[in-house]
Amino acid sequence: MRSQSTAGAVLGRGGPASGVVTIVPELPTCKSGIDFREFRDFFSGTAFQLDPLFLDCCCDWISTATGFPSIVLLVIPRSLTMATKLPIYFDHASTTRCDPRVVEAMLPYFSEKFGNSSSRNHKFGWESEDGVEHAREQAAALIGANPKEIIFTSGATEGNNLAIKGAAEMYAKAAAGQTGRGHIISAVHEHKAVLDPCKRLQREGFDVTFLEPGTDGVITADMVAAALRPDTILVTIMWANNEIGVINEIPQIGKLCHDKEIVLHTDATQWVGKMPTDVERDHIDLLTWSSHKIYGPKGVGALFVRRRKPRIRLEAMIDGGGHERGMRSGTLNVTGIVGFGKACELCQHEMEHERERLVKFRRKLETELSRRIEVTQVNGHPEKRLPHLTNISFGFVEGESLMMGVKDIACSSGSACTSASLEPSYVLKSLGVGDELAHSSLRLSLGRWTTEEEVDYAIEQIVAAVQHLRLMSPLFDLHKEGIDISKIQWQAH
Ligand code: PMP
Repeated sequence: MRSQSTAGAVLGRGGPASGVVTIVPELPTCKSGIDFREFRDFFSGTAFQLDPLFLDCCCDWISTATGFPSIVLLVIPRSLTMATKLPIYFDHASTTRCDPRVVEAMLPYFSEKFGNSSSRNHKFGWESEDGVEHAREQAAALIGANPKEIIFTSGATEGNNLAIKGAAEMYAKAAAGQTGRGHIISAVHEHKAVLDPCKRLQREGFDVTFLEPGTDGVITADMVAAALRPDTILVTIMWANNEIGVINEIPQIGKLCHDKEIVLHTDATQWVGKMPTDVERDHIDLLTWSSHKIYGPKGVGALFVRRRKPRIRLEAMIDGGGHERGMRSGTLNVTGIVGFGKACELCQHEMEHERERLVKFRRKLETELSRRIEVTQVNGHPEKRLPHLTNISFGFVEGESLMMGVKDIACSSGSACTSASLEPSYVLKSLGVGDELAHSSLRLSLGRWTTEEEVDYAIEQIVAAVQHLRLMSPLFDLHKEGIDISKIQWQAH
């Protein structure tokens, strides 16, 4: 239903709480002399106010976003707009703000403690080495490893490359009577930092099976077991997916690989620091994670390389001074590593409390958005998911318009920018989500400083944006009339 109104009156059923209100059809913009900060709901007669700042940004959006003669305001309760600093950061799966305690730990290593951690002959070197070794202990403690099993890297991309290419080169073997270099198992919805090294290995003569998940996005131990071959040398499956937050069966896959003496690597970039991790218990041989996803600085991370039962060996990717047990040469990023270590320590102490809080917020987002907006779907397994990350698709809205409508919320969409166009996310596609729905998806990822008020604000803004866009969707009107859109035969002109 599209509202009609007379000048000065407010129409719509959203009322003062939230929602879409359509006003004054004749006025070209909101800034035309009428005080739009005072509204009266046409139906209930209740007076309510809009925050002037909010009204301003609404007006900009309205004048560019709608080609309609009427003006549509997204009304959000005043208390939320005043107390919440905009835009809200809901993109923690992409990167996190450095924790101030991490910054504090790093500061001395920029200036006073500037030595090269490999300088063995003087105090400057020893000081830096102490900083690095302390960080190694902090990193190891977070995942139940021995500090000697930690190799510092520049982040998860490097960690994944070193683990996958390094293990493939080291353990290459041909199946009996064949000439290939060995078989690797991965999955189609892994991060590019896993997919691309696997594809390179494929070009170099390795055989790679990319498993396909079901509609819940989970890779199970049974799927891996069914793909195993006598020449399988490496399994690389992420612990939790970065776009949908779905958790794979890593402990079970670990047991399977351990029994078959096959190396298991897991890209745990989205998992470590958010969920308890024990590489011993779960039979992990190689595990990658990254500092900037856990409130540490960017450009640093670690790779766990098992030393015992079995001892895993890797071909180095970077040769040079033989740093990091010969597996990763190059002067260590001491300042970054110290910050990373501190970030690991903080996660270890705060993870449990943080997890409880974020699960509550994530569930609120999922349940409220699904309850208040019809034709909405939460992508991926409903339970096997990370505490802080959700991915939701909204039918009958156009992806780019949706992103514009929620511009107070810094989040990711279900579209990936390729060189020439917006492509629907390959992760969502692998779950069977259609292109249209993938485009109109939001990945919302919460973090250490997310407040309930921000969650409430985001809910109101998303509800209002979707409702507004649907006012302009003839397809949604047809859907409401009970017509199955997928069965319509469109005529070409
Ligand atoms: N793997 C996963 C699952 C990720 O989410 C990311 C970061 N988006 C990476 C790898 C790459 O991490 P980095 O930025 O540390 O190279």
